Amino acid sequence: MNIDLLVRENIRQLRPYSSARDEFNGEASVFLDANENCLGDPEEKGMNRYPDPFQRKLKNALAKRLNVSPSQLFLGNGSDEAIDLLFRIFCDPGTDKVLLFPPTYGMYAVAASINGVEIVNLPLGPDFTFPEKDFSRMKDQRQLKLVFICSPNNPSGNCFPAEQILRVLDTFPGIVVVDEAYVHFSGQPSLTGLIEKYPNLVVLQTFSKAMGMAGIRLGIAVASRQVIRYFNAVKPPYNISTLTQKAALNALANETWTDNAVRIIITNRKLLAAALEQCKLVEKVYPSDANFLLVKVRDPKKIYASLLRAGVVVRDRSDVPLCEGCLRITIGTMEQNTILLNLLNTLTLTT
Ligand SMILES: *Cc1c(COP(=O)(O)O)cnc(C)c1O
Repeated sequence: MNIDLLVRENIRQLRPYSSARDEFNGEASVFLDANENCLGDPEEKGMNRYPDPFQRKLKNALAKRLNVSPSQLFLGNGSDEAIDLLFRIFCDPGTDKVLLFPPTYGMYAVAASINGVEIVNLPLGPDFTFPEKDFSRMKDQRQLKLVFICSPNNPSGNCFPAEQILRVLDTFPGIVVVDEAYVHFSGQPSLTGLIEKYPNLVVLQTFSKAMGMAGIRLGIAVASRQVIRYFNAVKPPYNISTLTQKAALNALANETWTDNAVRIIITNRKLLAAALEQCKLVEKVYPSDANFLLVKVRDPKKIYASLLRAGVVVRDRSDVPLCEGCLRITIGTMEQNTILLNLLNTLTLTT
């Protein structure tokens, strides 16, 4: 598959901005090239210098962790930046289309709309299964440049079997994006091992969930060098701050913390699901491979409002098609989950 042919003409022709730190590459002691403040910064933390535009140190560490090459990585201001850039690289506004499998992560549709890209929806089947038959029956896939598969899926929580994703990879004529924001909670292997085989595969991961670093805003795209080259050409030159790069390196150095957090959250997920099943107001707890549960309840709006009055915020997904009656509840600590369960059980008595 020729990636260049999928890319928008103006992006293929693009001559990227060349920053001061791009043009100089080597050893020096006197930096008078980037109009930085020569006196330092108020906290004397070296923040007067622009960050490494290609995050080399961080990418080297991350590449080792993910068992890929640094040149197969793009880092963005959250996964949201990677999602937006995918549209800007591959989709001509008003002409090209994106394929989505709703209910799924809302940012795909928002990024499509911002970029003037038409959305083709193939809704998930019963119990949020992948609509494989509908996909294989699609006749005209020519203007489809992107497909987003979120696995484990937000908000349903389930993974799609790898064989089904592989069949999409084998037949889809455009870029296949697999969003693995929650993969660490699933026990399923990541698809990053397939990027050598499929130049059109883009795997998204993030520091926001298992790594516990949502505040630093750092998303990861793993893809073939051909695709990463376009990401690098289109991204703002200094899109990842020095503070974020440092914090991410520290987090990567503490793999034990992440592994432990994932283990605790998976344990709590099991306990919370079992306890919710016992609640009178709960009609169904969907199986979850993520760090949240999709829970069908009798009166979602009322329960949402009551929880909120008591200071507990969950996500009301009851207006999302195929999620009627559902709240999405992030797995909390034992203490937080107990507060939630106590509230739900007292509500049972008063309704
Ligand atoms: C939370 C989440 C992300 C992460 O987004 P960031 O911008 O990296 O914080 C990505 N995809 C899905 C499906 C998510 O739920």
